[in-house]
Amino acid sequence: MKQIFVWGVLLVAMQIPLSVDAAPIKVITTTEDLAAITREIGGDRVQVDFIAKGVQDPHFIEAKPSYMLKLSRAKLFVQVGLGLEAEWIPSLLMGARNVKILRGRNGHVDASEGVALLEVPRERIDRSAGDVHGQGNPHYWLDPLNGKQIARNIAAGLKRIDPEGKEQYDQNVIQFSRRLDAAMARWSEAMKPFKEKKVITYHNSWPYFLRRFGLMAVGYVEPKPGIPPSSSHLIQLIERIKEEKVKIIIVEPYFNSKTPQFVARKSGAKVVVLPPSVSKATGMTDYFQLFDHIVATLTTALE
Ligand SMILES: [Zn+2]
Repeated sequence: MKQIFVWGVLLVAMQIPLSVDAAPIKVITTTEDLAAITREIGGDRVQVDFIAKGVQDPHFIEAKPSYMLKLSRAKLFVQVGLGLEAEWIPSLLMGARNVKILRGRNGHVDASEGVALLEVPRERIDRSAGDVHGQGNPHYWLDPLNGKQIARNIAAGLKRIDPEGKEQYDQNVIQFSRRLDAAMARWSEAMKPFKEKKVITYHNSWPYFLRRFGLMAVGYVEPKPGIPPSSSHLIQLIERIKEEKVKIIIVEPYFNSKTPQFVARKSGAKVVVLPPSVSKATGMTDYFQLFDHIVATLTTALE
């Protein structure tokens, strides 16, 4: 009896949850960025895992059985949406046979909900033509202020699954948004001297970021998102870079830098490898570190 009492005191003192319900909620996100934000909002109430690593091209991920297993066990599923994962997530979801995380159900979060989108086509674009941005540009997490809306969407999903955590999730959204505002002031200050600078990017991943900080892309190595460049396209691009006096070609780390290096040599611009995602592999493990790194790299390159 005495022993049970001692254990009881210990458990209370250590705040060890006694009920089985207190097991963390399993959340699976498609990308590492969404996993990082889910961790900020979910805190110790959630256990977060992701499918696409930040160093991989999120449009093209190889569907593996292990991903299906993760999805089959998830209570909440968070995706970027807008067709970013269209090449690989439908088959994984089908294989996972977890109806509770399908679109429209309580366990599904489309993080793009309520985000002001860029480049939404007036007419439906046929995916068979290869363009992977058919529903508007899906790289919206690269505007740090969109992080707030992503956080609210994730919190809404968590509250559906775990209403008891409502207060904690709401508080975490407030804290996260405040920290973003504070960091934003720092990033804006650092980027200020580079307003209206023109850049070339490999893939059209950066319109939200560039718009937020007042820069602009005047061309892309890919003629259309997801389509490899032809030599005639590259010749035009080299001319464009010379005409517009573009200093840098931004390349996402998962593209081969051979073609951009060639364009750089012919045009006098330089290649800057810029990671568009949180990634454990590159040491940027949260949303703030990602933008710290992007801003530091860009400001050095554009100086
Ligand atoms: Zn894209």
